[in-house]
Amino acid sequence: MPIRYRTDEELHNHISNPPASEPLEHADVIIAGSGPVGMAYARTILETCPKATVLMLDIGSQDSAVAGEHHKNSIKYQKDIDLFVNVIKGALQNVSIPPADTYIPTLVGDAWTPPVTDDGPGSHTLVFQGSNPNQIREKNLKAAAMTRTVGGMSTHWTCACPTPHPEEIEKNPIPKSERDKLYQRAHVLLNVHNDQYDKNAQGQDISIRHNVVKKTLLDNLPAKRNVQSLPLAVERRKDNPNYVTWTGANTVLGDPARFGGRFRLRTETRVTKLVPNKLQKDSIAGVLLQDLKNDKDVLATAKAYIITCGAIGTPQVLANSGLQERIPALGHYLCEQSIAFCQIVMKNEIIDYIEKNPAWQERIKIHREKHKGDPLPIPFHDPEPQVMIPYTTDFPWHCQVHRDAFSYGDVGPRADARVVVDLRFFGRQEIRKENRVYFSGQFSKDRDSWVAGSTDIYGMPQATFEVTRSQKDNINDQKMMNDMCATADLLGGYLPGSNPQFMDPGLALHITGTTRIGTDPKNSVADASSRVHGFKNLWVGGNGCIPDSTGCNPTLTSVMIALKGAAAVKELLDGHSHGHHK
Ligand SMILES: Cc1cc2nc3c(=O)[nH]c(=O)nc-3n(C[C@H](O)[C@H](O)[C@H](O)COP(=O)(O)OP(=O)(O)OC[C@H]3O[C@@H](n4cnc5c(N)ncnc54)[C@H](O)[C@@H]3O)c2cc1C
Repeated sequence: MPIRYRTDEELHNHISNPPASEPLEHADVIIAGSGPVGMAYARTILETCPKATVLMLDIGSQDSAVAGEHHKNSIKYQKDIDLFVNVIKGALQNVSIPPADTYIPTLVGDAWTPPVTDDGPGSHTLVFQGSNPNQIREKNLKAAAMTRTVGGMSTHWTCACPTPHPEEIEKNPIPKSERDKLYQRAHVLLNVHNDQYDKNAQGQDISIRHNVVKKTLLDNLPAKRNVQSLPLAVERRKDNPNYVTWTGANTVLGDPARFGGRFRLRTETRVTKLVPNKLQKDSIAGVLLQDLKNDKDVLATAKAYIITCGAIGTPQVLANSGLQERIPALGHYLCEQSIAFCQIVMKNEIIDYIEKNPAWQERIKIHREKHKGDPLPIPFHDPEPQVMIPYTTDFPWHCQVHRDAFSYGDVGPRADARVVVDLRFFGRQEIRKENRVYFSGQFSKDRDSWVAGSTDIYGMPQATFEVTRSQKDNINDQKMMNDMCATADLLGGYLPGSNPQFMDPGLALHITGTTRIGTDPKNSVADASSRVHGFKNLWVGGNGCIPDSTGCNPTLTSVMIALKGAAAVKELLDGHSHGHHK
C-alpha cells in the first residue's frame, strides 16, 4: 500500500482546523524515539515539570514485558552468551545496501532472469526492495545499522560507558564545569558501575577471569596506560550474584507508573516529518506520523518536539521535513570508529596462576567436587572479564579486553569459552565535512514517481554514505592494530578464526556528528542545548549530536548532552505556562 503523502498546504490546514473525523494527537512534549536518549529527555522533563505530558513515538514494537528492557537480562543469555549473538544480528537492520548482482549464469530452463539491457556493465543488477542503487561501495559504512524496537539499541548494547579523554571532547560547546555535573547525572540515569566484577562487600574477588586479566595487564603494561575495570551500565543482582541487570531504556526512564497518565508511548508509529510553521519560520507546527499497523497518517502537535531516532534516523526525519537547505551541516562531519578485533585463548601460565591462587582455592574445590574431571580451575558461572585500557594522548584509541556478545565473535564449540578473551580496539576518525550521510528522494515533486531505491523499506528517504578514512586515520589504525596484537600477546594465543582483523566499516555502531551541536550554524545543526539552529521548539538528541572525534563509546556522552537539552525544554514549557497565567 503506498504512503499517503499530503502537501504542506494540506498539513497546515489540518493542524489549524482539524476535521472531527481525524482529530490531532496532542501532548506538551513529543519525543520521537524510545532509546536511552529519548528516555533521558522524557524522565528529566516529567520529573522537573510536574504537569507536563509527554507523548513518545517509536517505529518499532515493544518486544519485552517491560518497555525498553535489555534482552540480555534473560537468564538464558546470561547462561549462554553465544546465543545473544543471534539476538543482536536480528536487531540490526543495515542502513545502506548496494544492489546485489542477481545474474545467475547457471539458471537454466524456463525461469525468469533479469533482462539484459544496453545500459552498460552492471545494468542487469536488480534493485531489490531496500537496496540502494546510489551507494558507492568504497564509500559505504557497510555494517552501519539501525535497531527499530522500543528501547532502541539499548535492548542489546554492551553497556560500556567510559568518560571521554579531554582530547575526545574538545569540540563540545558545553563548558567543562557544567559537563562534569551533567556526566554525574548521566551516570546515575544509566546506572554505571566500574566494580561489579572486582570485589564483593566481603572483599572477595567476584570474577576470577576478570581479576586475572586485569592483573596480567596491570603487571605488564606501563602505569601510564591506566589499565582499569571497564565502566559498565550494569548492576550485579542482589538475589543471585551469578547474574547481573544490564541497563536498558527502561532503567533510564524508571517506573513510568509514577508519572500517572502523563507519559504515553505509541509503538509501531513512524515519525514521518515535521511540519514547519508557515507564518513563524522559527517554529514547528506539528508532526506527521504513520501508524504502521494500519498505514494511517496521524497528525500530532506539541509545544516542544525532540527527535532522538539515532544518528541516522534523526537526520532522516529532518531531511524528510525539507529542512536540509535550512540546516546545511545536517548529515555532514560524520565520524565512525574503526574496530580492530581478535580473540585469544589464555596462556598456560595464567591458568596455572588461577590454579594456585590461595584466594580462589575454595571456589575451585567446590567446582571440582561438582564437576569431576574438569581440567579448568574456573567455575562455570564465573563472570566474564570486563577490562579497559582507556584512550591516552600516546595511544589515542579505546581498548576493551573483555568477553561479550556482538554480532560476531561467538566462540561456539571451537574452545572452552571460559579461556577465551575478546580484544576490541576502537579508533577515531578525523572530522571532515565531506564525510556524510545524505538522504535522497525527499524533494521529489511528483509524489507518485518514487523510483525503487529512493526510500528505505519504511518509506523514509534512503540514507547513502559518503565516508572515507584519511591517511591520518589509516596510520592511526595501523598503530592501533599493532598495539592490540602486543596486548593480545600478553594474554595468550589467537583463537583460530578470530585472528587480528579490522571489522567492516560501521560495525562499531558509534556514528557521531550527523546532527552535531556547536555554536556556528555553518558547521553544526544545533546549539549547546541541542536546540536546532533557527528553531525555538525543535531539539535533536543522540550520538549524532556529538561534535568530536572519539574512540570511546558514545552513549554516556549523548545522555549527558540530552540532560542539558531537557533543561532547555523545561525552560520553554515554564515560559509557556507563565504566559498562560498572565
Ligand atoms: C551490539 C551493540 C553494542 C553496543 N555497545 C555499546 C557500548 O558498549 N557503549 C555505548 O556507549 N554504546 C553501545 N552501543 C550503541 C548504543 O546502544 C547507542 O549509542 C544508544 O542506544 C543510542 O541511543 P539513542 O536513544 O540515541 O538511539 P537508539 O537506541 O538507536 O534509539 C533510537 C530509536 O528511534 C526509533 N526510530 C528510528 N527512526 C524512527 C522514526 N522515523 N520514527 C519513530 N521512531 C524511530 C528506533 O526504533 C529506536 O527505538 C551498542 C549498540 C549495539 C547494537
